[in-house]
Amino acid sequence: MVKTVLINPDERLRKISRDVTEEEFKAAKYQALVSDMRETMLVMGGIGLAAAQINEQIRIIIVNAKDGVMVFCNPEIISSSWKKEIEEEGCLSIPNVTGLVKRPYRVDIRAKKINGEEFKLTAKGIFARVIQHEVDHLNGVLFIDKAKKIIEQSNGTDERQN
Ligand code: ZN
Repeated sequence: MVKTVLINPDERLRKISRDVTEEEFKAAKYQALVSDMRETMLVMGGIGLAAAQINEQIRIIIVNAKDGVMVFCNPEIISSSWKKEIEEEGCLSIPNVTGLVKRPYRVDIRAKKINGEEFKLTAKGIFARVIQHEVDHLNGVLFIDKAKKIIEQSNGTDERQN
């Protein structure tokens, strides 16, 4: 089901999301939520979404990666490259605005699948950027907090919406 995405400055976007618990993994409790997140992201043309954006303050993010939609539960960025890049970012929760945000080019992530199985991966470039943007959502942080420059869009067609 497509859910309503919270729009800045909704204060619910500023809450800290809590971890998925072992019991919840065992019960596969959040499969329906992940399915709703996936549908919402794809319908809205996003490349990532955090559960917090649909008012579920739980540490689950999804990313529309090259090989399909990836799910990260309780994601942790365990290391970041010294090399940083400045790129334009947008957000489904902040329509018609983009900003230039400096972030590490490469990150190593540890997370769990929806069934609780742990995995690690290294992400670079846009993929790394989207993951960092979504992890920020779990901590109540929005890209406008970090942007060096905010750009008002004359229309809503920018492509990098997270
Ligand atoms: Zn976002």
